[in-house]
Amino acid sequence: MKMSQMKQNQAEDYDVLIVGAGPGGIFTAYELCQANRGLKIAVFECGNPLSARKCPIDGKKVKSCIGCKTCAIMNGFGGAGAFSDGKYNITNQFGGTLYEYIGKQEALSLMRYVDEINLSHGGAGTKLYSTANTAIKKKCFENDLHLLDAQVRHLGTDKNYIVLQNLYEELQDKVDFFFRMEIDAVERTDDGGYAVTAGEQRFTGRRCVISVGRSGSKWMEGICAALDIPTRSNRVDIGVRVELPAAVFSHLTDELYESKIVYRTKQFEDLVRTFCMNPRGVVVNENTNGIVTVNGHSYEDPALHTENTNFALLVSKHFSEPFRDSNGYGESIARLSNMLGGGVMVQRFGDLIRGRRSNAQRIAESFVVPTLAAQPGDLSLVIPKRILDGIIEMIYALDKIAPGTANDDTLLYGVEVKFYNMEVEIDHDLQTKYKGLYVIGDCSGVTHSLSHASASGVYVARHMLGLTEQNG
Ligand SMILES: Cc1cc2nc3c(=O)[nH]c(=O)nc-3n(C[C@H](O)[C@H](O)[C@H](O)COP(=O)(O)OP(=O)(O)OC[C@H]3O[C@@H](n4cnc5c(N)ncnc54)[C@H](O)[C@@H]3O)c2cc1C
Repeated sequence: MKMSQMKQNQAEDYDVLIVGAGPGGIFTAYELCQANRGLKIAVFECGNPLSARKCPIDGKKVKSCIGCKTCAIMNGFGGAGAFSDGKYNITNQFGGTLYEYIGKQEALSLMRYVDEINLSHGGAGTKLYSTANTAIKKKCFENDLHLLDAQVRHLGTDKNYIVLQNLYEELQDKVDFFFRMEIDAVERTDDGGYAVTAGEQRFTGRRCVISVGRSGSKWMEGICAALDIPTRSNRVDIGVRVELPAAVFSHLTDELYESKIVYRTKQFEDLVRTFCMNPRGVVVNENTNGIVTVNGHSYEDPALHTENTNFALLVSKHFSEPFRDSNGYGESIARLSNMLGGGVMVQRFGDLIRGRRSNAQRIAESFVVPTLAAQPGDLSLVIPKRILDGIIEMIYALDKIAPGTANDDTLLYGVEVKFYNMEVEIDHDLQTKYKGLYVIGDCSGVTHSLSHASASGVYVARHMLGLTEQNG
């Protein structure tokens, strides 16, 4: 059905209801507005507008998470990535499996389109890195390491924020934004449309796009159960964040910025991979449902650069029946580190391989100065042996292409956990078994990156507008 037909039913409040104002929701709204068809679009977001997103942790009066009703870091305009490093990976090799639904060429072309929009909204002048023709790939092969192909636009935390600000300014007059409005339920209406409710308030629309991200994963489970939409359990990634002198990795980061390198361990044939590389960046705490895990950032602005580079080393765990709660498994490991360390734990690599805990004195004497004040401890008491063995093996493998990685003073922070949403059953139009009900972005289990989530938003907007090939 074309949008002109949608408008015929005047009883509907909106043409399109969008739940969630992360990249998926924002780019759905953006692309719908580009069509200039006078569509009535509503975006519901349980968090705040961008300007009001302020985490109360200031390191002085408020030192740790106080469990705000909605988390300023994860919720609000811009979604989970609003304060992220803003790395837009243009690739099908990681960041999600969108290409399995819409095709490889289409997925790449949409990611490039999103990149252009970001550039025209404040991201101009930022660097696009690429693995094409790099000699590093050969060096990796020689050492049993595999460099994944990608182009990476590094917006940086500062410019990423500006892009979001500009997108909001452009959309605010064309779209009805409802902030601090948590949608409770999504229902089908008798006339084939949808209704979303928030407390006493109810909104109807011909089409509904759900893009509630990872923070909405539990809610999404409930919606799928209520609407009888099938789901499948997904994986969880567990590991550590490595911090070392920037010089050790500079030949990789100067050329590629972010290198995704995969290694198959000799001992268990598990895959260990680098993730979220932050040249001259900082290690930070991340709070997920009250559990403190570790992450990293870096800034585009050279004034905010540090002496260190950080990246994660992760091992994926897939579970088969009867165990479905892969996120619960990851949470339990992170909780253990919180129990022993009161939060994130840090250990020197040299201490880990000697089987001793790091203490404040050893960390203070280390040549690598930590960028996060974490509790010195012993990661072998927290991380399962098989995963930790894989990480140690990978550190020695990386040492061959970046000598100094396996130095005693290399810092390991734990635990880094990447949670994934369960996979929601959707078709190649990212539509559920109900026509007009789309599930996109990270809450679908299909994407797990800014670029894939944004691209999925553009895709469903075009599908609704009748512009995709499938819709003729
Ligand atoms: C610290 C951090 C750093 C990251 N860095 C990068 C990076 O550099 N590069 C990269 O590619 N990816 C990065 N990611 C991942 C990236 O942010 C996500 O993949 C992306 O934001 C997913 O977009 P989304 O729209 O699917 O979901 P989200 O961005 O999570 O947005 C979903 C929105 O829905 C809202 N919501 C949830 N439930 C409801 C409800 N019931 N009612 C109303 N609103 C609701 C939430 O408040 C949220 O704002 C990072 C993530 C984090 C947490």
